[in-house]
Order: sequence, then structure tokens, then C-alpha cells
Amino acid sequence: RHLGHYPSLPPGYQNTSAPHATPPMHPAMQAATQPYTQPPGGPGPAQLSPSLAAMSLQSSTPEALRVVNLLQERNLLPPTPIPAPTPCLTQDLQKLNCSPEVFRCTLTSIPQTQSLLNKAKMPLGLLLHPFKDLSQLPVVTSSTIVRCRSCRTYINPFVSFLDQRRWKCNLCYRVNDVPEEFMYNPVSRSYGEPHKRPEVQNATIEFIAPSEYMLRPPQPAVYLFVLDVSHNAVETGYLNVFCQSLLDNINSLPGDSRTKVGFITFDSTIHFYNLQEGLSQPQMLIVSDIEDIFLPTPDSLLVNLNECKELVQDLLKSLPNLFEKTMETQSALGSALQAAFKLLSPTGGRMSVFQTQLPNLGVGALQSREDPNQRASAKDIQHLAPATDFYKKLALDCSGQQVAVDLFLLSAQYCDLASLGCISRYSAGSVYYYPSYHHQHNPAQVERFQKDLKRYLTRKIGFEAVMRIRCTKGLSIHTFHGNFFVRSTDLLSLPNVNPDAGFAVQMSIEENLDDMQIVSFQAALLYTSSKGERRIRVHTLCLPVVNSLSDIFAGADVQAITGLLACMAVDRSVTASLSDARDAMTNAAIDSLMSYRQSVLTVQQPGLLAPACLRLFPLYILALLKQKGFRTGTSTRLDDRVFAMLQLKYQPLAYAILMVHPALYRVDDLTDEGALNINERTIPQPRLLQLSVEKLSREGAFLMDAGTVMYLWIGRNCHPNFLTQVLGVPSYAAVPDNLVELDTAESQRTRAFIGWLRDQRPFFPSLHIIRDESQLKASFMQNMIEDRTESALSYYEFLLHLQQQISK
Ligand SMILES: [Zn+2]
Repeated sequence: RHLGHYPSLPPGYQNTSAPHATPPMHPAMQAATQPYTQPPGGPGPAQLSPSLAAMSLQSSTPEALRVVNLLQERNLLPPTPIPAPTPCLTQDLQKLNCSPEVFRCTLTSIPQTQSLLNKAKMPLGLLLHPFKDLSQLPVVTSSTIVRCRSCRTYINPFVSFLDQRRWKCNLCYRVNDVPEEFMYNPVSRSYGEPHKRPEVQNATIEFIAPSEYMLRPPQPAVYLFVLDVSHNAVETGYLNVFCQSLLDNINSLPGDSRTKVGFITFDSTIHFYNLQEGLSQPQMLIVSDIEDIFLPTPDSLLVNLNECKELVQDLLKSLPNLFEKTMETQSALGSALQAAFKLLSPTGGRMSVFQTQLPNLGVGALQSREDPNQRASAKDIQHLAPATDFYKKLALDCSGQQVAVDLFLLSAQYCDLASLGCISRYSAGSVYYYPSYHHQHNPAQVERFQKDLKRYLTRKIGFEAVMRIRCTKGLSIHTFHGNFFVRSTDLLSLPNVNPDAGFAVQMSIEENLDDMQIVSFQAALLYTSSKGERRIRVHTLCLPVVNSLSDIFAGADVQAITGLLACMAVDRSVTASLSDARDAMTNAAIDSLMSYRQSVLTVQQPGLLAPACLRLFPLYILALLKQKGFRTGTSTRLDDRVFAMLQLKYQPLAYAILMVHPALYRVDDLTDEGALNINERTIPQPRLLQLSVEKLSREGAFLMDAGTVMYLWIGRNCHPNFLTQVLGVPSYAAVPDNLVELDTAESQRTRAFIGWLRDQRPFFPSLHIIRDESQLKASFMQNMIEDRTESALSYYEFLLHLQQQISK
């Protein structure tokens, strides 16, 4: 069998060397990241290096606006992953600005008016990763947290000081007094330099809050585990892994001496566990009336972890055996959730739910809605919306009592994730999904579940949190994406916040931003740490305001735009239809490129033209159309589709982009040339390849990084050196499923590179080795998004389609 389907390309296309192909440059030299114009009235452009200044003399067009004919320029990918564009600010401001890993805007130059934004035809919004693990975070303890008296903005690097005693708010422009205490700088231990305080020097900062930021004493860390123990659950073998993981990590759960834990198991009945200090062993209490659930001994079901650790450990050791022989197939998940909600209501906390089948008994029972014959339908996909509002309502109740619900779904069968997922979505929880989980038949899923659990149990957590996003007067936030409940117009209720959660918001321009050179955005996250401290993490982003379309285009952040469009398309799929959402994404590419052509390009020329900063836009849109969440015509299980949509909504942008457009590298010829050196480890840096079968070679081995999963594709005629030195086998036929550790230079290089990729994200991507015979070969090939398939256009065909629409 051949490799697959080679795309048919018009003559000359494949080998066209682009007339303006960007020569490989050091990433820091990428012109797109350099400031290129002067903000109107601003204090002058940042320093251009002599060579760039010379370039800009030759042509007045900044790199971001270099005209690219997509139909001719084939090699669009930069050699290394794409950095976020740098806003066009003075160096002084940019040095203080928030990291793009935490705060990004789809347009790094903000249009002065809504009509200008409408003309640009690009979405305006923010992408946030507010609780990201940070290696450096300034923390301020102060009895006075300085905020604007009018709009409550936290003082930040982008306010202006009128004199030593007064500062002007950068969001509402009110002039505020500088409090006496703020005159002293604890860092330099000097007096009279308010502008040198850490609050004014750091765009990301955390405050330890005084008592006025507490509605009640900070809650302790409370963890409740709700476990499916039906016959189906026991068959999967997940309970062993869960119990062992919790045993292994029990001393690393975030918390202090007040930390509480509890357990509920369920099948057709609900089982509670009395873990009160003094008992010789845990006591199981069965409640079989699932219609009107009550707590048998409310005070001894959630216990202090330190005081009752031995009983908890006893329970975890005995749980898997307890249900070993169960024949109970029914699942009363809804009642179990109600019981768990009752138990957590007085304190708030985190509920972790493990479910392996469609709940089929009592409240919240669901029926299968998936027709397997429709999985490959090219028509509209049904049942993307929940079947019942039970889970959403319960989630809102949970939110009101500061309870977040995380759902771990491990199942071979349809579970109606569209309905079940609501329990996490509105309570600010997360959804983890392990399709076809089985302890024997699916070792890769078991490994992923183990690694995910370790991260989940030990990562930082914030309780009883709220997040507010403010922006400069004139701008207005209107739609939020992620997992939360919107309590009031700009306040998100987050019973828990975790470092792996991303958010997005859409914005509009309500009032003209005339005479403004810069605008600011501030996200403030108020939470209770696992040690019972009330803390506020504040991020402030500053962006220039521009009044020309070309400046708006020059500042476009194509990855942020793609991430926001994906969130909008998920909503559209549920509220309207999948085909509507797909059309909207295609139109986004057509409209913006048409606007560019009509309003920005000064010299008309043939072809499909894009500014360099948007050159990947059609590729990303095509990738979205072929992504599991949005594709049609390719067999896709409904739960897989819904899960992909959930992920697009709450994954931080960096991971969402990999899900949409995976990174492909050749790895059988890794060298140390251009390698990174981190902690005395040499990390090879192979270049990014286009996602096309044309880039594969049977003599090579290729790594595809799709975010939560990686594939290592081995060519049939792969060089014997790679087989023996990296895979440890003599022939292609003997290629293993997993990567072994060999003491060879080739093996070390390969593992160093894969390990480095894995280290850049908090979750654990599983690695599958792909041969011709592999079941997962289809998943690998489906990511070759530049190629044509039976049901979808090739990248070149898609470009022709766009061009046709634009020149209509
Ligand atoms: Zn203000």
C-alpha cells in the first residue's frame, strides 16, 4: 500500500521558490516581532537595529505587511514555532507589558473606532491564561492595595503620575491620590518614589489581600471524590489506577492542616464512607433511596486529612477489591452528584467525578442519542446541545456554594458528553476524557490517565475565586469563553481556578478612542489559596490605538484570531448549526483578505494576497474545518467531537493551536546544529514541516506533536541506524509501540527533543509509534491537513476557493 493520497498540485506550484521567501533568521530577528511604525503622537519608535533601519529605507512596508501571494508562496511555516507579535509600543512600555503567554489580544493595534474595526473584518478579543504556573511572580503584602476610586482598577505600570502625590487611572482617567504608605518603596527601601513600587513595575503581580476582600473566613482545601463502581467501571480497571495515584500523591495535595477529604462511590445506589478519627476501619454506608438523597452521618463523611490519613489510606487500598465481583450495571450519577453537592455545600471545594458509562438511573438519566451511521455524515450534526438542563442547573447550584466539578470520563461507549460536560462547564471545572479506556487493552490511555491524575492532584488550586476583566473606557467586553458562570456583566464566578485553564473574551468599541495613544486591559483574579490566604493576581496589558486599516492589519495576531474564532464557532455549532459555524470560519478568512485587498493594498496584483502576518490564516481556518470538533464527512464519534469543542473553549491558546495545527518534525536525522542547551542537556531543534504527506519520506521517521497526543511515524524503509539506535529493533516489522530508552547518542537526542516538547505543557501527551499496520495511522494521516481527502479540500483547493469568493 502506498503512503496515502498525494495532493495533486498544479505544475510549478510545488517547486516554486517564493520570490520573497523569508530567509531563515534567528527567532529574535524575525521582522514580524519588531516595532515598525510610530504610534500616533507617541514618544517615537523603539530603536531599530541598523540593518533593519536600512531595510525600512529600501521599502516603507513593514515585514508584517509584506504582500504574500498565497497561491505562489508554498513555504509559509517559519522554521521554529511562531512567536506572538510584539505590540507596536515604545520600548519602555513594552518592557513592562504583560507576557503574551498570559494575556494576548487578537489585534495588537486597537482600531480607534468600531467602524474601522468593522472594515477590518477581524474579531477583536482577548485570550487569557490567568492562573498559569509562573517561575517568577512578585507578591506584595500591604495593608493598602492602591486602586482607582472610580473604576476600581489596580494601580499598574501604565498609569501616569501627575506628580508624586497624584496618579491618573489608565482605564477611566480619574485622578487619584497616592496614599502615604505607597510613598515608601519596600524593594529599594526608599521614600518618595511611588513610580518605582513593584505594583508600578510589574504587569503581573499578586497581592495578599487584607480582610476587606473576604466575604467569609477563607475556606479550607476540601476534596471530594465521586467514583463510579458499577460493573462497567470495574471492568475498565480505572479504580486501581485512581486509588494508587491518590495514595502516591496524598502528601502532595495542596492544602494545610485544615484540608478535608471525602469519598462517595455509586452504582444503582449511593455509598458513603465514614472516616471519622477513632474508627478501626472505614465504614461504608449505603443509601438505596436515590430519589430523595440524604447524608447518613454528615459530620464524619468529610474528614480532616491529617487526622484521618490512615483511614483514608486503608480505604484507598481496599476500594478496588470491594467491588471486584459486582454485577451491578446501573448508574445513578445524578443522585450521586446531588449527594456530593449536599456534602460540599457548607464549605465549598472541589468535586472530582469519575464516570464510565451513560447514567441510566434516577435523576439526570440519559439515553443514547448517537446514531453510529451518522458519524461520517456530511450534513448537519445533531445533538451537540445538552439533552437535559439537569447538569447545568446542578452546576449553577454548585457555583453558588463555591463547588467546582471536574469530570473524568473513561468509556468505550457513548456517554453524552454534550449533557454531562455542563456539570463542569458552568461550575468552572475541567473535563478529562479517555475514550476506550481499558487497563489491559489500552496501555497508552492508562499512562495518560496516570500522568494526568498526578498533575491534577498536585497542581496549584485556588478556591472561591472570581475574575473581573476591565478595559479602558470606550471598549466593552461582551462574550466570554471558557468554563465559569457569569455572575454580573464583567464578573466570572470560578469556584475553583486551576493553572491549566484558559479564557477568551470578545470586545467591541463603544465610543471612539480619539486622542488616545494607548489602551489597557486588566484581569484581576481574587482567590483563596490552598493555604487559606486570600490573594489577588493582577495582569495588565497595554496596546497602542491606531487609526488606519494598514496599521490594524500589521498588528494582527493570527494565532489569537484563530483561537477566538474557534471559541465563537463552538458556540455557533451549538446555538445554530455546525454548517453555520463552518461557513462563518471560511467567511472570516474571505472577509478579512477581501478587506485587505480592497482597503490596504495600494498596488493591485493577481493571486490570493495576504499580509505576511496573516499568511497562515487560511491554513489555520482549513485546519479548524478539518479538526475533530468541526469536520464533516469523516467518521467522528459524537463524544469525541464534543470533547474537541470543549477543549477549544478552555485550553490556553498555545495548546489549542497545537490541537488545530499540529507541529511536524523529521527526527531520524537530528543533529546538534542549532540545538538549544538547557541545564546541560542538548535539545536538537529540527525545523517545522508542512502537514502534507509530500513532506514524509519512507526512509525517515517523523514526529507529529498535536498537543495532547504525539505520533512518531516510522517510514517503511526507515534507515536501519534509527531502528537499532533509537527503537532498539533490527527491522521495520519489529518496531515497538512505545519508545524505549537506549544508551545511544541517537536515542538520547530523540528523547531529549520529545522530553523538551513535553516539558513545555503541564499535561502529559501520550506518544504513539505509527507503522503502516497501526490502528492510529488514520488519526496521524487525518492531521495532514494540507492534503485532499475524500470529503475535504486540499490547502491549494481551499486557497482557490477563497480567491474565487474574493474576486467575485
Ligand atoms: Zn479608573
